[in-house]
Amino acid sequence: MPGIYLHIPFCKQACHYCNFHFSTSLKYKGELVQAMLRELELRKDYLVEKELDSIYFGGGTPSLLTEAELMLFFENIGKYFTLKPGAEITLEANPDDITPEKLQSLRHTPVNRLSIGIQSFHEEDLRFFNRAHSASEARACLARALDADFNDLTIDLIFGSPTTTDERWAENLNLAFSYDIPHISCYALTVEERTALAHFIKTGKAPAVEEDKAARQYEHLMAEMATHGYIQYEISNFAKPGRFAVHNSNYWRGEPYLGLGPSAHSFNGESRQWNVANNTKYIRLLTNETGFENLPRLAPGLFEIEQLTPVDRYNEYVMTGLRTIWGVELSRLRQIGPEFETYFLQNVQVFIEEGKADRVEDTVLLTDAGKFLADGIAAELFARKD
Ligand code: SF4
Repeated sequence: MPGIYLHIPFCKQACHYCNFHFSTSLKYKGELVQAMLRELELRKDYLVEKELDSIYFGGGTPSLLTEAELMLFFENIGKYFTLKPGAEITLEANPDDITPEKLQSLRHTPVNRLSIGIQSFHEEDLRFFNRAHSASEARACLARALDADFNDLTIDLIFGSPTTTDERWAENLNLAFSYDIPHISCYALTVEERTALAHFIKTGKAPAVEEDKAARQYEHLMAEMATHGYIQYEISNFAKPGRFAVHNSNYWRGEPYLGLGPSAHSFNGESRQWNVANNTKYIRLLTNETGFENLPRLAPGLFEIEQLTPVDRYNEYVMTGLRTIWGVELSRLRQIGPEFETYFLQNVQVFIEEGKADRVEDTVLLTDAGKFLADGIAAELFARKD
């Protein structure tokens, strides 16, 4: 079933490791919301099916939206789509935004799931990341959210940082477990180009990220999650039984979604498209637009489209399939083309022999030894475009 993703491109301050699209100036927030509503109206027919089972506010920092702004999105989505009963409606939130008043206000909206960017419960990590919140806010916001009956919570944690000792990582996990949160996402700190972190490492102001440490902490993570009853349903995502994220699962399983807002991606099964990653340009293109019949013609530059070839579909499926508990199903490869099944089986054999992948009947999955290397293994299995 399809979903809608809304990218809210504003943050209070820039985290040193982040390469997402956002602005630290909130000056155009009102205009941007209006432009996104216009994009929704223009692109409502992108999704053929009109019943949604998820809406996801990501960013950026969607918790910077007011209740009135959130309600505008829901009212306008409601003009064109219906929500499946019990649909998952997630809002990404930063701990410093989760005040009792904010939670109260969110209770007046259809938001029923919070994704909280904790990243760490330790001050040293948070300062290294340049997060806007403190360690005490990280703890307090979880207690507050649970008190306000927001039980459908997920948190993000980062491991492998130069400041994250093995002891701190173990403490982070134990603290997360102590709140009995149904869903936890954990990411290795990666050094993305053109980020402050990359610059600091290059100029010797920060130590390099050690891959061995990240691999060790990932191993600890997988073992602890299993001990505490979480299922690793994706390389970075762990959930209690029955609590897998609907939005993320749909994405990994190739369901269509409409992405609204600057830099947002959309997928309809045939093509992917992504919006311009520039707030003022996005607002200008949508504000000047005068008719709704032919969006690319009327708002040139708003987005780029890539039609997926069989090779693209194979590569994307191998990439996402290997990362998930559902693995790569050979029958799906055969649907793309029998030659892809043959190519995949020939190339995956070496990883099976090395104990990094496993074939279970008609499905190939990564073993625990292969999971940390998932992206590299997928890259080895990609088919070339020529
Ligand atoms: S709050 Fe999130 S989106 Fe904003 S800078 Fe930090 S990591 Fe990036």
